[in-house]
Amino acid sequence: MDFQQPIPKLFYLFDSGTPFKQCQVCNRDLITYDKPYIIEKAIRRYPKFGTEDVVFEYAICMDCAEKQRQQMSTESMFRMEEYWTDRFNPAEHLQHSESVPLEYLMDRCALTGERRSQMEEYQIAALCQGSSLVPGQPPYLVGGMAMEQIMELMSNETMDQWNRFRDDFLGPSPEISDLLKGRPVLI
Ligand SMILES: [Zn+2]
Repeated sequence: MDFQQPIPKLFYLFDSGTPFKQCQVCNRDLITYDKPYIIEKAIRRYPKFGTEDVVFEYAICMDCAEKQRQQMSTESMFRMEEYWTDRFNPAEHLQHSESVPLEYLMDRCALTGERRSQMEEYQIAALCQGSSLVPGQPPYLVGGMAMEQIMELMSNETMDQWNRFRDDFLGPSPEISDLLKGRPVLI
């Protein structure tokens, strides 16, 4: 991605179409915050109809994200890092180009290469600071297949922690599937 690229509209709040302004956990103002923050969305797709719903979306400041990460069991953390390092390659086929188009990054899983058109669920994430993307940290998409693989690597303790985070900060969602119930946050 180019230097100082503005946050794509895809990472704005779904309902209002405006940028995220506050950390979902501590309510800190993200525009004046002097560190990066993460925006995550979980999406459900209906391939038959070609439509999508946002299951949940939030922004979290780096301080709160770090606190969540520290609660993860050492074993889960180690497995997750190993899985991620081995596979994370959001722009495999465009390694030599100067900037990777967002459409490319948002069309396939950064871990498995699974195409979005085949997915029923996926998550997208972007690392931002102020109103820009953090340079050199392109947004990425993680598909249902990778989400399932990651869940299998996690300890029960870590899964419980994620569930608590979801209940405390993201609220209930009747539409939520088992996969997104046990989803990894903050990755
Ligand atoms: Zn926060």
